[in-house]
Amino acid sequence: DNRIARISSAIRVIPNFPKPGILFQDITTLLLDPKAFKDTIDLFVERYKDKEISVVAGIEARGFIFGPPIALAIGAKFVPMRKPKKLPGEVISEEYSLEYGTDKIEMHVGAVESGERALIIDDLIATGGTLSAAIRLLERVGVKVVECACVIELPELEGRKRLGDKPLFVLVEAA
Ligand code: IMP
Repeated sequence: DNRIARISSAIRVIPNFPKPGILFQDITTLLLDPKAFKDTIDLFVERYKDKEISVVAGIEARGFIFGPPIALAIGAKFVPMRKPKKLPGEVISEEYSLEYGTDKIEMHVGAVESGERALIIDDLIATGGTLSAAIRLLERVGVKVVECACVIELPELEGRKRLGDKPLFVLVEAA
């Protein structure tokens, strides 16, 4: 698919951000290229439109950029999975481990119902900790996670393994 090459070249790589030694994959430049941004959304929509998905769960913050256009196109609801203390209503939360310490994501109680089918979306998978917490959060309330999808995967970190048997679909692999 020649759309992938255009998407890949629209992603900017910034060395030493946010810390020395980190090669940051910056999707804001992809958003500046309307053709590449549309191709990104279209590729996900083509894959998920006939999979009876009723929930697109987007992970803060960049899952909020890619998730809503996909949700609208496939006729699903959009559910934000947020960093702690951002959601105003009653929440359920799930912790995950980082290199140093832990972090948490939260979802509103009542946003999804048991038996719904979800797609989880984020811009990038690194260690897989964030996506694995999102999977656990949805499964705790009886939602079937059909697949996780990201624009970019850092394959060397083997984050895929942390998702167990849950399928992961990515458009671009980065070094
Ligand atoms: P993980 O939990 O280690 O898989 O990290 C994934 C999370 O960190 C995602 O929410 C990403 O948005 C963010 N992240 C990690 N590295 C990068 C990067 O290079 N560019 C953009 N986001 C990143």
